[in-house]
Amino acid sequence: MHTRDGAVPRIALRVDEFSQACRAAGLDNSTARAKRLGIRHTTVSRAERGRTDPGVRFIAAALTAFPDRKFEDLFEVIGSDGQRTHARDNERGDGSTSGWLCPECGHLNAPELVVCAKTAEHD
Ligand SMILES: [Zn+2]
Repeated sequence: MHTRDGAVPRIALRVDEFSQACRAAGLDNSTARAKRLGIRHTTVSRAERGRTDPGVRFIAAALTAFPDRKFEDLFEVIGSDGQRTHARDNERGDGSTSGWLCPECGHLNAPELVVCAKTAEHD
């Protein structure tokens, strides 16, 4: 895996957006949210407090529970340089895309990828 100074990009939950989506769906507490998402209560509450990065199961569950929210609505990518990057302003135009732009090569990566698919082509 390509790394720089041992750091890799990570995905963070947009806590405010996630809470808003939950409230809009009538999920007022993390127990209800966990039940709806089908994941553990502790996983939800930790992610909500920013204690852990959301894992792929959390991401998949959230996007399934809130089909009107896109990946970039609920999550953001923190690059290996600590810069926040996301695809919100770089959509493909059909309105259905989700994913994140690599800060190094600009490739639009699938949301489930944590490391750029074109990492091998980075110089
Ligand atoms: Zn890249």
